[in-house]
Amino acid sequence: MSQEFGLTQVLSAALQEVLQFLGLQDLIVLLGSGDSASLLSLDGLYALFAPLIPVLLIIEILAAIARGQFQWQHFRVPLLTLVTNGIIGRFISLAIAVTVASTLQPFALLETSFTWYWFVYGYLVWEFAHFIYHWAGHKVRLLWCIHSTHHAPQHMNLSVSYAHFFLEAPYADLVRIGICTLLGVDPLVLMIVIGIDAIWGSLIHIGEELMPDGRMGRLHKYILTPSHHRVHHAKNPVYVDTNYCNLLNVWDRVFGTYQEQDPNIRPEYGIKRKDGNNFFECYFGEIASLARDVRQTPRWVDKFRYLIMPPNWTPEEGTPVINREGAV
Ligand SMILES: [Zn+2]
Ligand SMILES: [Zn+2]
Repeated sequence: MSQEFGLTQVLSAALQEVLQFLGLQDLIVLLGSGDSASLLSLDGLYALFAPLIPVLLIIEILAAIARGQFQWQHFRVPLLTLVTNGIIGRFISLAIAVTVASTLQPFALLETSFTWYWFVYGYLVWEFAHFIYHWAGHKVRLLWCIHSTHHAPQHMNLSVSYAHFFLEAPYADLVRIGICTLLGVDPLVLMIVIGIDAIWGSLIHIGEELMPDGRMGRLHKYILTPSHHRVHHAKNPVYVDTNYCNLLNVWDRVFGTYQEQDPNIRPEYGIKRKDGNNFFECYFGEIASLARDVRQTPRWVDKFRYLIMPPNWTPEEGTPVINREGAV
């Protein structure tokens, strides 16, 4: 998940902005996927030619400057519109965070301050809130519709950290910042924690090509490493629905969802019934599937239960228990 706090986040957001403006973002994601055939698809061709206009625009500006004919007002309105659109997008995300925090502040159970021990407390509370948001994203079907886009890719690489349904950030902010505010986490502590969490949350998607052994030596005994998160993204029965935490996996250990990577069981990424290369299937597939189930079941109580029960629940059979024993 990406949040917009901290210097690193600002720099990373600025870099994203430049890449987005140059039309290079999609191309980087495509090339990063190592799937050269996808360049020949419509999306691939678009990604290939997207940088054309921005690069020509820069040449146009440089040529005008060289000829001494550059006038700022010729470019001012279109470029400011572009920048404004980018800023509005970021403000919507920030506005949700600020609204949740200020609304729930009066109901905070305790008050803390900016000290090292309240920082440790703040990080543990944040991880707890992350666990709740993430667990519910897997166990409540309506929320799975929002979270499943992140699980659709069938290959693990850093571009997966960008794969999110547009409502996931507001949903995550609501739960995580809401719980942290109610449990009195200091706002400055919260901002630093969110910054660290956002950077680590992206890094744990590093692929096997760059980091074959994602356990990071002895670190995997103490923190959540790329190896743990590969397990989380895997659909193998032994791995599914485990490792919900982000950096400190203390809550996975407490709630019994901790799972290490078995060297003999290679993670298979993606979602069982999904075509991970079809964008519409990855983005809207779970919503369509839920709508179908709700429409087809006759009883109103079952229609409602479909929304709040786990993704594989049915009125006839309930929620099947995953057989993790002997699973390969
Ligand atoms: Zn997940
Ligand atoms: Zn992930």
